[in-house]
Amino acid sequence: ALSDRLTGVFDRLSGRGVLSEKDIDEAMREVRIALLEADVALPVVREFIAKAKERATGEAVIRSVRPADQVIKITYDGLVEMLGGDEVEGLNLALNPPTIIMMAGLQGSGKTTTAGKLALRLSKDRKKVLLASLDTRRPAAMEQLAMLAKQAGVESLPIVPGQSAPDIARRAMQSAKLQGYDVLILDTAGRTTLDEAMMSEAAEIARISNPSETLLVADALTGQDAVRTAKAFHERLPLTGLVLTRADGDGRGGAALSMRAVTGLPIKFLGVSEKIDGLDAFDARRVAGRILGQGDVVALVEKAAQDIDIAQAEVMARKLAKGQFDLDMMAAQLSQMKKMGGMEGVMGLLPGVQKVKKQLAEANVSDKMLDRQAAIISSMTKAERKKPDILQASRKRRIAKGAGVDVAEVNRLLKQHRQMADVMKAMTKNGGKGLAQMAKA
Ligand code: GDP
Ligand code: MG
Repeated sequence: ALSDRLTGVFDRLSGRGVLSEKDIDEAMREVRIALLEADVALPVVREFIAKAKERATGEAVIRSVRPADQVIKITYDGLVEMLGGDEVEGLNLALNPPTIIMMAGLQGSGKTTTAGKLALRLSKDRKKVLLASLDTRRPAAMEQLAMLAKQAGVESLPIVPGQSAPDIARRAMQSAKLQGYDVLILDTAGRTTLDEAMMSEAAEIARISNPSETLLVADALTGQDAVRTAKAFHERLPLTGLVLTRADGDGRGGAALSMRAVTGLPIKFLGVSEKIDGLDAFDARRVAGRILGQGDVVALVEKAAQDIDIAQAEVMARKLAKGQFDLDMMAAQLSQMKKMGGMEGVMGLLPGVQKVKKQLAEANVSDKMLDRQAAIISSMTKAERKKPDILQASRKRRIAKGAGVDVAEVNRLLKQHRQMADVMKAMTKNGGKGLAQMAKA
């Protein structure tokens, strides 16, 4: 597994201060192999590695963490980010129904199946859904969609033999409008290879129907072809999102990363079985874990992240032992709090700060507030951060303006800092026992 190989790499460099360029190069070679094994397209691998390298360069080796874990965390974070992060992108519904959703993609990618799955999902949300097949080349495809409509408990447009795809699109739109449907899903024909006839027909349908969602459906096992397919469709159609089918297959899902990187479009859903309910909202963390090729990578990474935070707490504890707690340290702590799951998460680790904890709860401290507080501190000069006593009214006004908050909030932050500094001082007077404990927690 990747982590084992990386451990091998780093065993040879234990005891150094910073991840050096050579160390990172060596680790990134292993990451590159993992990505290629997951079938991520080569240009995307290159781009990703360059970014991950940039992130890793200059990162301090944290003593309590294996450098291998650190590189895995950096890599995993980069993958999650590149896949769209934690944001879940649902379907865009039109303000004026019917919302039109167009399915596009190569033949056999799973368009018709996904159309049925979306219909089921939407009808569970109490939407009135009409399915229409524009696949005039294969009569069986129309029957297939009608069957899926039955399974999903929604209507399908009656089949009229001999109509062209654009004509069916017009008829479907009219029916949907007249009969008060909320959503019309247009299932289009695909070809086994990219060709002009398919593209121009799909473009024509998109032009006629002006869909709110034009979804490119692609097989998660597409591999190296994913980039070419995504590019070709993206150039010709007003795509709004991607659906990757067969995520239940053996592949490691590199196509997800490739297609997302090339189009910049959100991946909205994953097809996870042949059954009509086999459609999951996209989950970047799950897919990133799979691309890295380690079932337990998420747990591993989270543990590593926690270790890193604890190691940073150690550094802070050492500074505190010298009886100092300035605003720079507060800023560091704020960002750490965010990483560790906000105020609650970090306060749970601190012994003897029940009072502060209660005050924070009373002050209704939220993560948004943490962001604003960080902004306030970063609007201060270095001298101000070291010695907040020098802050009089005019400086406070300048800082508030810089951070986009009012002066009262600057004052609140300063008060909170004083309280924290007092607590820290009291703790270090006890011989720093509390802090040493906290660092080990
Ligand atoms: P289309 O030509 O793009 O309309 O593709 P179809 O919807 O007809 O799907 C082609 C085949 O892939 C069918 O046998 C589907 O049952 C299967 N399929 C579609 N989506 C999934 C999926 O998410 N997982 C699995 N295992 N099979 C799928
Ligand atoms: Mg089909």
